[in-house]
Amino acid sequence: MVDDSVPDQLQCTTCLLPMQYQSKMDGKFLWQCFKCGKKYFVSENIDDNIEESWSPPR
Ligand SMILES: [Zn+2]
Repeated sequence: MVDDSVPDQLQCTTCLLPMQYQSKMDGKFLWQCFKCGKKYFVSENIDDNIEESWSPPR
């Protein structure tokens, strides 16, 4: 069973802090860590498919 709703919460693997849900882009939910700027793209139709993107604050 796959729950296709927005995940309740994601945790930054670097800071171990809760990440903030930003927006939905190209069928993926974008989450970002407010501290280090790490981004997670969570697919809405594939379970546990999380992409990491690093974009440190300037
Ligand atoms: Zn972080």
